[in-house]
Amino acid sequence: MSYLPVKQLLQTEPGQTVTVKGWVRTKRESKNAVFIALNDGSTIHTIQAVAEAGQLPDETLRLITTGACVAITGELVASQGAGQAVEVKITDVHIYGPADPEKYPLQPKRHSLEFLREIAHLRPRTNTFSAILRVRHALAFAVHKYYNDNGFYYLNTPIITASDAEGAGEMFRVSTLDPMNPPKTEEGKIDYSQDFFGRETNLTVSGQLEGELGALALGKIYTFGPTFRAENSNTTRHLAEFWMIEPEMAFFELEDNMNLAEDFVKSVIRYALDHCADDLAFLDNRLKEEEKTKKKEEQSEMSLLDKLRFVVDNDFERLTYTQAVEILRNSKPAKKGQFQYEVSWGIDLQSEHERYLVEKHFKKPVILTNYPREIKAFYMKQDDAPATNERGDVFGPTVRAMDVLFPGIGEIIGGSQREDDLDKLTARMHEVGIEPEAIWWYLDTRRFGSAPHAGFGLGFERLVLFVTGMGNIRDVIPFPRTPKSAEF
Ligand code: ATP
Ligand code: MG
Ligand code: MG
Ligand code: MG
Repeated sequence: MSYLPVKQLLQTEPGQTVTVKGWVRTKRESKNAVFIALNDGSTIHTIQAVAEAGQLPDETLRLITTGACVAITGELVASQGAGQAVEVKITDVHIYGPADPEKYPLQPKRHSLEFLREIAHLRPRTNTFSAILRVRHALAFAVHKYYNDNGFYYLNTPIITASDAEGAGEMFRVSTLDPMNPPKTEEGKIDYSQDFFGRETNLTVSGQLEGELGALALGKIYTFGPTFRAENSNTTRHLAEFWMIEPEMAFFELEDNMNLAEDFVKSVIRYALDHCADDLAFLDNRLKEEEKTKKKEEQSEMSLLDKLRFVVDNDFERLTYTQAVEILRNSKPAKKGQFQYEVSWGIDLQSEHERYLVEKHFKKPVILTNYPREIKAFYMKQDDAPATNERGDVFGPTVRAMDVLFPGIGEIIGGSQREDDLDKLTARMHEVGIEPEAIWWYLDTRRFGSAPHAGFGLGFERLVLFVTGMGNIRDVIPFPRTPKSAEF
């Protein structure tokens, strides 16, 4: 007798005695038999187990309800029904944990995503969420595989950081001081010298600055860890706790950075297509059903699988921020005043602008480069000449930034070539009001053996959002953290 996950069992030759363990999805009783569909999370599929009517003790039969955890032993036989090659002819059932049908919140029907968010502790037992979580796993594995195959080292950057150079206002403070009664200095300020680390500390908003230190020693590194931002807006694209993948490469310039970002994203999506066929087919179908409930003009032209294949098979569009602004200003929505935010050179593009470029204008992923210096972080490499357009208008200074924009989402990657010139970097820090002393260790890499380098950050959940076709970032992470919500 052997215990096999359902995934393997479904591919096993009939004729042996097996035990299968999992959660009951449905029980169906006919005049002659009882049919149980069992899922154990190893696959989207269930295995069917069959007993003759009257074969199972009444008490056992009563406890086999949706959600109950059971072990079923029996002979693996060829299945009569369509769909599956094998089923289990039951000889014994053991109940591990019953689930009172009066109280168990999951029923064999499609629940709304809003309802499932309220029971995030149980939703992995649904088809939709188990599929998402398996795809998420495959993508995470593909990320590590991609970088390992391409000569990168996995560098763990700190989660608790003292650097406050980035993300002002979005940081979660880390402190062991009594919040009601913190020690005070003579001037009446909180005395962080008495805090655990002897100074102010925060949860990281990005591993980039530390990642750069790694790249300027190991050549090519990547981080893949949790990232925290006290985003006070409630959007379908932002979490307070998300996972970010940040490669950083010595001797890479902006063009190399773009090439890597495109190849990387395509490669991990291809991995999911190759390794998650059943789950993606399920999610594809789910989305098709959802599309049918929409108005004809709002229905997507492409299925989820078509979209994924399209992204993998086609070059991303590449253009500068300045070119994008020209396109947006000449677009119908801008002329008719349909954008919520007006477009002019220098604005930080909003998601409505990004999505217009991707979904309406180019109809493919887009990489925008050379953004205005004023809207980007201090560490990005400054371009030599200011931006100009075809008419010869001259705009402000730009930096070698790049954002990768995806359909349905907008920004999925933000990156840049880094400023490697110490004088330019410190001058820029003074301009934006950052004390160079605060990150003396970062500046040391420019002081000693500086090198051209570049990197980017990919929000892992935004990638999972795209690959699964889901619409809300809360539905692609097991335990979403958003304002006023951290129950589980
Ligand atoms: P956005 O403009 O969407 O707020 P950002 O420009 O603030 O993103 P970056 O600092 O460039 O984000 O971070 C790199 C990547 O991390 C982004 O491209 C995005 O994929 C992801 N990301 C940023 N903030 C969040 C968040 N709150 N939740 C989930 N992913 C995020
Ligand atoms: Mg942001
Ligand atoms: Mg942004
Ligand atoms: Mg960004």
